[in-house]
Amino acid sequence: MFSEKVATLIEALSRLPSIGHKTAQRLAIHILQNDRSSGANIAAALQAAIGSVGNCQDCRNLSENTIFCAYGALGTVRRHRAG
Ligand SMILES: [Zn+2]
Repeated sequence: MFSEKVATLIEALSRLPSIGHKTAQRLAIHILQNDRSSGANIAAALQAAIGSVGNCQDCRNLSENTIFCAYGALGTVRRHRAG
């Protein structure tokens, strides 16, 4: 029914939390038929974030800094875990 590339896109989307196969199918069709620029923006944003965002070595929050998140990088509060 779908081409190999569309099927691969549906499969990839369906691996996301709370996205079932039918929703993945709807998203793929929507992007390809109606909103290719949003699809391209999502792809670029994912690639940029995956390439540059890691985890703070202290609290494990997402951080673009390679060692500590913005809170930890202040230096005044080294222990900044919630609780
Ligand atoms: Zn942190």
